[in-house]
Amino acid sequence: MDLFEYQARDMFEAGAVPVLRGIVADTPEAAAMAAAELGPVVVVKAQVKTGGRGKAGGVKLARSPGEAFEFASQILGMDIKGHKVRQVMVAEGADIAEEYYFSLLLDRTTGKYLALCSREGGMAIEALAVERPDALARVVIDPLTGLDAAAAEEVVTAAGFAVADRGRIAEVLVKLGEVYRNNDATLVEVNPLVKTGDGRIIALDGKVTLDGNAEFRHPEWAEYADVAAEDPLEVSAKAKGLNYVKLDGSVGIIGNGAGLVMSTLDVVARAGADLPGQPRPANFLDIGGGASAQVMADGLEIILSDPQVKSVFVNVFGGITACSEVAKGIIDALKMLGEKDTKPIVVRLDGNSVEVGRHILAEAAHPLVRVEKTMDAAARKAAELAAEGE
Ligand code: GDP
Ligand code: MN
Repeated sequence: MDLFEYQARDMFEAGAVPVLRGIVADTPEAAAMAAAELGPVVVVKAQVKTGGRGKAGGVKLARSPGEAFEFASQILGMDIKGHKVRQVMVAEGADIAEEYYFSLLLDRTTGKYLALCSREGGMAIEALAVERPDALARVVIDPLTGLDAAAAEEVVTAAGFAVADRGRIAEVLVKLGEVYRNNDATLVEVNPLVKTGDGRIIALDGKVTLDGNAEFRHPEWAEYADVAAEDPLEVSAKAKGLNYVKLDGSVGIIGNGAGLVMSTLDVVARAGADLPGQPRPANFLDIGGGASAQVMADGLEIILSDPQVKSVFVNVFGGITACSEVAKGIIDALKMLGEKDTKPIVVRLDGNSVEVGRHILAEAAHPLVRVEKTMDAAARKAAELAAEGE
């Protein structure tokens, strides 16, 4: 889970990392008021969970509340790499002498942490890493000791900071390491970490990613729920306890077992590649074992309410749950849905009690349901129906 910059700023402040004051605003009026409180010079910053806001015009220096109003009206509502700006943070302006880069992240391949640090921070750190890798120090950090004073010393030395600055920067890095550990983060990035004209080290921008696996021990994370940015279908699927991810194609997918659903997505994408409009999967939905009629109905309802969906592919391999139960579940689900069910549904059943399951579907003879014997044939049929429905 990624945080907004203002949330990272607050987290830094709570962890004694030096930051500047900032106030979140969702209207130009509120931005002007914040500027009057924080001025004379403030920075109006788009709050979106993506980098490169500066380049996109989402970070502007304002010299008066009027200017803050002006810039906030430009930035609010802006689209930055597909993220709509709903809030800005008005932050105290900094007198920047130098801009540095620092990040601490989880390196899953080594099972350790990795600290990245450069004297050349600011906007284009990705380009720096490619073009002049030597300018970006990389220090492996032992997760058992974390970013302690000795490790921080190693980082500032490797990054080649002026000897006179090293102690002050290392102190801030240790605090950032504590923020990382205490909040179960997998990434803490500061770009830029700045030195001001009067020699203070300040985190001017912050990016924090939290480890979703640690959510159970952080009730305070509830406030980070970002409902506005979530897909409405995913929100209602979550409310129904379904394991659903919205994709952008036109073939709705329901299967049992994450592995089977993943391969169903591949097979459908492959089958659609040669067809007009190249239909692709519209979603991932794993209804798990024990596909009851209610779960099937909930799943179908979510998928059928996606206006992009033109056909549905139900792909079930009967294991503990017999295909006969799944078939009954499908028929009962269609009864529950009634009028809401308007799109063709291709069913492939295999495994435990498959013959009984197919028989139940054949008996029901629902006009929108057709059964295919193999996964490939069913994928092709579902893709063809989606192509025709375009
Ligand atoms: P990003 O582009 O999304 O990473 O946004 P940042 O918060 O990093 O801001 C981009 C750039 O704006 C920084 O690298 C700074 O050069 C500049 N900037 C941000 N805050 C201030 C400030 O308080 N004063 C000044 N002079 N420049 C700032
Ligand atoms: Mn930045």
